[in-house]
Amino acid sequence: TSLQVHPAVILTSLNNSGKSTIINHFKHEEDKVSEIVPTVGFNVERFQNENISFTAFDMSGHGRYRDLWEHYYKDCHGIIFVIDSSDRLRLVVVKDELDLLLQHPDICNRKIPILFFANKIDCKESLSSVKIAAGLGLDKIMDKPWNISSSNALTGYGLLEGVEWLTQQIR
Ligand code: GDP
Repeated sequence: TSLQVHPAVILTSLNNSGKSTIINHFKHEEDKVSEIVPTVGFNVERFQNENISFTAFDMSGHGRYRDLWEHYYKDCHGIIFVIDSSDRLRLVVVKDELDLLLQHPDICNRKIPILFFANKIDCKESLSSVKIAAGLGLDKIMDKPWNISSSNALTGYGLLEGVEWLTQQIR
């Protein structure tokens, strides 16, 4: 048996941003059984698509599980960060989480590409991806390739383009 190591991508967001809906677009039928880490309610989903191994988890819960999810940073080759564009109130929380991620020792000195999905663009109250980028201060990310893609996870709009950008950065 050959030892295959697939590039690993982290897929994360606050809860209710559309993460599970996005995952369902990329999971093949045969992969639908996914691992749930039973540790005290912290759920991690893992699946593969096009030779990339995805690890998805939620950053909500007031950082209670921070140590558990930060454990995945070390071996990751790319990050997908999903934002609910219609959730203006929590954009500051998203920014706090993003800043913590970018400052983490396992992330800060590496040129890991980051894809942002400005999801739920179909909602009336949604901010544009330009406004999201400004709100999160993405222009300050100088040392990592990043891209923000508007998406509607319900229809799949924007998802493939975004992930294609990320996989090109990784390969
Ligand atoms: P998660 O908690 O981040 O995994 O979010 P979910 O995938 O469970 O989505 C939360 C809710 O938002 C669900 O009711 C989804 O149907 C809905 N949702 C997800 N993506 C979109 C989107 O792009 N547009 C709209 N209008 N609703 C969405």
